[in-house]
Amino acid sequence: MSASVSPAEAFLPFVRPSIDEAAIAEVGKVLASGWITSGPKMQAFEEALSALFGGRPVRTFANGSATMEIALRIADIGPGDEVITTPITWVATANVVLTVGARPVFVDIDPRTRNIDLDAVEAAITPRTRAIMPVYLSGLPVDMERLYAIAARHQLRVIEDAAQAIDSRWRGQRIGAFGDLASFSFQANKNITCVEGGCLVMNSPEEALRAERLRLQGVIRTGMDGMDVEEPGGKFNLTDVNAAIGLAQLAHLDAITARRAALAETYFRCAEAAGLRDLGIGLPLPLDPHEATTNWHMFQVVLPVERFAGEHPLGARAAVMEAMREQGVGTGVHYPPVHLFSYYRSLGWREGMLPHAERIGRGIVTLPMFPAMRDADVERVCATLSKTCKRLFK
Ligand SMILES: *Cc1c(COP(=O)(O)O)cnc(C)c1O
Repeated sequence: MSASVSPAEAFLPFVRPSIDEAAIAEVGKVLASGWITSGPKMQAFEEALSALFGGRPVRTFANGSATMEIALRIADIGPGDEVITTPITWVATANVVLTVGARPVFVDIDPRTRNIDLDAVEAAITPRTRAIMPVYLSGLPVDMERLYAIAARHQLRVIEDAAQAIDSRWRGQRIGAFGDLASFSFQANKNITCVEGGCLVMNSPEEALRAERLRLQGVIRTGMDGMDVEEPGGKFNLTDVNAAIGLAQLAHLDAITARRAALAETYFRCAEAAGLRDLGIGLPLPLDPHEATTNWHMFQVVLPVERFAGEHPLGARAAVMEAMREQGVGTGVHYPPVHLFSYYRSLGWREGMLPHAERIGRGIVTLPMFPAMRDADVERVCATLSKTCKRLFK
């Protein structure tokens, strides 16, 4: 970076976690306490999360992927079963379906919301379908009423990949506070983090007990020295070190959500001022579109890649991302369509099967969005993107 760049113009990453001094102090206390793995902090974190989700049972896990795997096992999904999901997601969503021996069935997305198309879900239901696994991309819920109506009509489980959707709402109700199984992630980039972690919101104490066993090898302890295993599990427990960070983050949830909403509002204003729409750049659905309220986990735009007039060996999006980086702005890709990864192609998935997902998967770019950003950063991102796209697209 050139010497003329002022500190205020330092590199802006697309995401940066905010861990405050209180969280750091809590970690120190756990490390000094003599009990550093799963214990009282984990339990306190689970109680706080349960309160957040209207008192429903909640258990924590080592990460969001493990959380979804446990959810599938609690729903008794395995070999011979089909799970309908979206290709525009972090590959974990589909990988965990394979891990339990079931088959992920991808359907196309609604290009407006970029989430799974519920018409396509209905059309893909077969006698083998056991569950729907929606993903709330960037925190935007799907039509929850419609989702649960479809599930009820066909007697399907719903395993919500709500990894990105903590504090998102449907008609004012928090995602996770209603519905079937809801899985959240506290990975470092998520709205609240434990560094790595996740939690599952369940329906009954019986499901919660099964989750407790599955996260620790399936072990059942009784009396002073009794031990048994009825169903083998894995090593998926969350440590007290991670839980202490999660608890400290949870205390800021309202402020985090509010700050992200304000930044999104600034984004829409700056996008207009910078003429992004006129350049053919697709913006997210506006704030509070209908019944769904996003937590603005990400602010994502779709580039008009078919109008690329520049030159880059990796194509239009890579050219834009590289040019942005050279101008001090980090961006991300969330996500290329999962069905076109080599392994999934080997299962029979091909280009042309899910056209909306493929087009959006080629053009989608995540712009910087995190609570410590200033409004001036948003302005800079939009101006830089506008300048870059004017040069690279016809
Ligand atoms: C983060 C994320 C996951 C997985 O969470 P990890 O904690 O990284 O295992 C799954 N699905 C989606 C959509 C995510 O964003």
